[in-house]
Amino acid sequence: MTALDVRGLVAGYGGDPVLDGVDVHVGDGEVVALLGGNGAGKTTLLRAVTGLLPAAGRVTLGDEVLTGLPTEERVRRGLAHVPEGRGVVTELTVDENLRLGGLWRHDAAGLTAAVAEQYERFEPLARRRSAFGHQLSGGERQMLALARALVARPRVLLLDEPSLGLAPQVVLSILGTLRTLCDETGLTVLLAEQNAAGALSVADRGLVLQLGAVVADRPALVLADDTTLRHAYLGF
Ligand code: ATP
Repeated sequence: MTALDVRGLVAGYGGDPVLDGVDVHVGDGEVVALLGGNGAGKTTLLRAVTGLLPAAGRVTLGDEVLTGLPTEERVRRGLAHVPEGRGVVTELTVDENLRLGGLWRHDAAGLTAAVAEQYERFEPLARRRSAFGHQLSGGERQMLALARALVARPRVLLLDEPSLGLAPQVVLSILGTLRTLCDETGLTVLLAEQNAAGALSVADRGLVLQLGAVVADRPALVLADDTTLRHAYLGF
């Protein structure tokens, strides 16, 4: 069954569009890597799907059409977005950041339960619950950003460059945690990454974005093994 379906997405920043009619399909429980070099349009695509950037085209979540809805409504319907740079509020504690993830919920008990669930899954956060965002390491911030998105209990998670600026060991740990999370919960993920090798090691499928269009859509193992495609598009 389809979790996220994007058809004919056109978006940009004035002038020529960055995305020129992009189609993306993500099945329920699938982890799809959205690859492409610097400036390929990965962030633009995620922002357009979330409604942070005006876009033409159709976005469907399950059987609900999201086109035209404000971001908040898209989140209510089950879309979560962890932006590039993580968006952790550095002046707030881990606990306060996590609670922000459920700000739109109107039941305090439900929010507390959702936060507690994240502490169980992400033990290092439980140990740091009173620490401020600015006191966390890069890896801890990424973990917090991920956990905060999960507090909303999304159906589909859009994750923008989680490996950016992190040491290779930390990247492995974050991506491994993500894969385990998906295996255990059936969460659907669209993972934008410049680190193609890392993303393909945990994804089911890989899409390559270039010059505003999807130029390859293959199972992750096939893409990772295809020397021609790798050299042409992925730089490894
Ligand atoms: P990166 O991995 O470097 O984040 P990306 O694939 O996410 O790259 P985008 O950030 O979506 O790429 O950028 C796509 C294009 O849009 C680039 O040419 C970029 O310069 C341009 N762009 C991005 N943000 C803006 C903006 N706020 N205003 C104008 N142009 C922008």
